[in-house]
Amino acid sequence: MSDLKLCQGTSCHTYNTKDRLKGSKDNKTFQTRRRSSFYYGGGNFCSLNCQNDWFNDFGNKAIDHFFGRTTEPKHLTEENAWIKDYDWRSDDEQNRYYFINGITREQRIITREQYEDRNYTLNIS
Ligand SMILES: [Zn+2]
Repeated sequence: MSDLKLCQGTSCHTYNTKDRLKGSKDNKTFQTRRRSSFYYGGGNFCSLNCQNDWFNDFGNKAIDHFFGRTTEPKHLTEENAWIKDYDWRSDDEQNRYYFINGITREQRIITREQYEDRNYTLNIS
């Protein structure tokens, strides 16, 4: 029981679902969800609703406090705009996989091994 995590959603206990209703017959309450793991918000929230509730309550403060608010647009330049793609219609295994540059649209053929290698990239940073 002790290694279960509680959902960090600020209103989790207010959602009237059967699994949140706990306690003995004459002493029932809706309670914050407890699980061994959660899928949302880095393992902190039981649902997208709870994640959104938290963000609506604290998101502005968190952005300002922990990272600093983004005040200028970030730029992804040509040399880092390569993404992997493949042509599923191609019968030619040698030319099926490629990088395509999102800005210049240049294509460069790669092998299947290079395509599947998550660390293989043409991007500089
Ligand atoms: Zn929740």
